[in-house]
Amino acid sequence: MHVNLIPCLTDNYAYIINDNVSKTVGVVDPSEALPVIAFLKKQNLKLDYILNTHHHYDHIGGNTELKKLYNAKVVGFVGDKHRIPGIDITLEDNTKWIFGKSSVKILHIPGHTLGHICFFFENEKIAFTGDTLFSLGCGRIFEGDHKQMLTSLNKIKKLPKNTKIYCGHEYSYKNAEFCMKYDNDNIDLKKKFEKIKQLRSNNLPTLPTALEDELKSNIFLKCDQNDLKTKLNMKNQDDYKVFRKVRDLKDNF
Ligand code: ZN
Ligand code: FE
Repeated sequence: MHVNLIPCLTDNYAYIINDNVSKTVGVVDPSEALPVIAFLKKQNLKLDYILNTHHHYDHIGGNTELKKLYNAKVVGFVGDKHRIPGIDITLEDNTKWIFGKSSVKILHIPGHTLGHICFFFENEKIAFTGDTLFSLGCGRIFEGDHKQMLTSLNKIKKLPKNTKIYCGHEYSYKNAEFCMKYDNDNIDLKKKFEKIKQLRSNNLPTLPTALEDELKSNIFLKCDQNDLKTKLNMKNQDDYKVFRKVRDLKDNF
């Protein structure tokens, strides 16, 4: 399966996924239709599915136009069936959906929104995490609470370490600066930041990121670790309180 990054709006990515064997084509989180249509035309592809991680406009903005043009099926979380435009296939937590020849596990990961999901392609080890897990960051908590978001991140943490993470936004540089502020003696983080700087200076995407890298360098995934707790003067405090602190710090960064 091929994943193609399509920059949309100012810092969003839509992803065109293409299973060459079964000739199945999908797009994940099309914030706008035009860049997606341009890519499909150039590659001479049709569109079978529109996959939405959550209902925000910068993830579903292209749904209606793409559905009309290609007669594609819109796929999203059952709990959001009233706010995902054009939804045809409703998915439930912890179930499997088939895309071409791929088995896709659906993880309900509320926090950013209540109906947020992750599409995990099991054999390919590819996860579309929307606005829940970013490279070196996590999404803002709009509809859920900190406990929900932490539980959701912990679900993603349990995926295989070599999982490739494709998230909804190019926020890596700013996120790296934030992580560096509180975890500046982390050698893995320093290396990751250097790589991000280099990519961004050439205007290249920093995604996908490996889950393994995120586990070492993303401080939102380290709120259970004594090392980080000590750095934040929160030794022996609950993981979720540490997470709330980190999220608050980021909101004001
Ligand atoms: Zn969002
Ligand atoms: Fe977004």
